[in-house]
Amino acid sequence: MQALVEQLVKLQALELDRTRLLHELRALPAEVARAQASLAAAQQKSADASSALSREENLRTKLEREIESHRQKATRFRAQLDDVKTPEQAAAIEHEVQFATAEIDRLENEEFASLERTEAKEAELALARAQVELLAASLETAQASAAAQTRQLQIELAALDEDRQKVRGLIDPAWLARFDRLASARGTGIARADNQQCTGCRMGLRPQTWNQLREGELLTCDSCSRLIYWDPAMAPQPKEPQPATAPGQGRPIRKPSQAGA
Ligand SMILES: [Zn+2]
Repeated sequence: MQALVEQLVKLQALELDRTRLLHELRALPAEVARAQASLAAAQQKSADASSALSREENLRTKLEREIESHRQKATRFRAQLDDVKTPEQAAAIEHEVQFATAEIDRLENEEFASLERTEAKEAELALARAQVELLAASLETAQASAAAQTRQLQIELAALDEDRQKVRGLIDPAWLARFDRLASARGTGIARADNQQCTGCRMGLRPQTWNQLREGELLTCDSCSRLIYWDPAMAPQPKEPQPATAPGQGRPIRKPSQAGA
């Protein structure tokens, strides 16, 4: 393969590796952010369960006070029953006692419901706290792993950048500009021709183009505009002797670059 083709192919491999490494580097903070978000959600759940428990406790304190007040009232009214003079008075006091007793029942039921909610919330809180512990550990692991991976990727990237600068330095600036334009538009700037097809876009090549490629020329794909080349090392090896061919056919001839820039 010509030096230019070799350099462009090598550059493309380096550029693709670089893109992959940069992509991996950019993905690392997202993993840590996901772990942070999961932990924050569990912490919120735990805090919500805690405040729900406080609310229930305050509610029961208030209910206890109200129940106590109704009990005292009932006791007072019962004591008054001893001094009543008329059946009407007795009925009125009886009514007050009944009302106080009914209120005590109602408030005690409310208190019981609150205790049931507390039990459920306590289970929720225990679960949330266990989850928080688990996710905090996961976050630590994710942070450590992201830091280690970042360091590793940066080392790889630095080595790759060095190779990349070296290879770019060897390529004629006009070719480099053309390659960069194609690479940024299509992801890759150069493609191998294989089986009379451009491997970049899978479109067929004209026989004339295919022949020129097999003679070692660097050409342009009519369909995708990528630079195309033929690599004899990648061509299938015939198992049996081929019929005689015209000189120069079926075998690449090394020529200086002929592709139009
Ligand atoms: Zn193509």
